[in-house]
This record gives sequence, structure tokens and C-alpha cells, in this order.
Amino acid sequence: MTFKPYSKEDQLNRSGGIHADDLKKYKNRSVAWMKEKAKAKCHEYVRERDRDGNHFQCCSCGKIKLIQSKTGGGSNYHAGHFKAAGECEMLRYDEVNINGQCDQCNYFKSGNLLPYQDHIIRKWGRAQLNRLNALYSYNKRVPKKWTKIELAEIIKYYSKKLKDLRNASNHSVQKN
Ligand SMILES: [Zn+2]
Repeated sequence: MTFKPYSKEDQLNRSGGIHADDLKKYKNRSVAWMKEKAKAKCHEYVRERDRDGNHFQCCSCGKIKLIQSKTGGGSNYHAGHFKAAGECEMLRYDEVNINGQCDQCNYFKSGNLLPYQDHIIRKWGRAQLNRLNALYSYNKRVPKKWTKIELAEIIKYYSKKLKDLRNASNHSVQKN
């Protein structure tokens, strides 16, 4: 049997439901712009997933904190990476690698990674931790470069998950 390369249409259909129409709106956008958009959607989803009403529990220090409101009270609530995005492109938008975290741990304790690792095991299981470590090592050898199709897919994926979460959750009315 001879190898038949996939047509462009096939490739689009194979990449998780992204179609040519989905890409049209990004025609004049750069990869850098799309990476920012993907990050925004991904982080918004993680913060929504990991909040409990107006509070969140930090994935590293375990403290329960009030989410900072527009009027200034409460704590900065971050979507914090376990494997830093700058060190592992492949895990930049990975929903297991990113969890609700306080700014003290994320910024001032550089991720506070030891308790963060325990949190990943408790919340996601050891197999997921092993997956993150394996992808981290793989990315060191074969650095990931995002394509516009992949980024469009990520934007669509997290937009839908965020919408579903907000529709389903009781705290969807308490938006920041
Ligand atoms: Zn913390």
C-alpha cells in the first residue's frame, strides 16, 4: 500500500474538531497573539475550575484564601504551572500541569514545587505526575513549536470547557 499524505482538509478534521472556518478568524493573527489568547482561556478555565465560590485553596501551601475582588480585598489568585511554561513548551497549556495557586507561592516561592508535587499526586494521581515528568524530559530533547491549528484547537477546547463549567456550576453567578 502506498503512503498517501493527508489532505489539508483531513488534517484539520483530524485535529480534534478544528475546521477551516475556525481558522479563518485567525488568518491575520500571529502565533504569538494566538499563544496569548490560548493562555488567557486556559488560565481562566483553571481558575474557574479550582475556585469554590469566592475562595480558593492554593495547590502549594494549601491555604484557603479569599479571591481578590475589584475593590482590592483578598488575595491574588493565579493559575500556576507545576512545570514552568518557560521551561517546557509542551506543558504550557496542560490542565493537569496548571492549578489554582496563590501569588505568594507562584511568584515569591517560585511555584513552591515540593508541596505542589504532593498536590498533583493527590488530585490527579501518580500516573499523571509521571506523564508530566516524561513530557518535560521529552520536550528537552524535542522542543515543542506550536502551530496555528494547534493553538486554535486549544482556544476552542478551553472556551468550551469554561462555558460548560460556568453553565453547570452554582457559583457561576459570582464572577470577578
Ligand atoms: Zn500558596
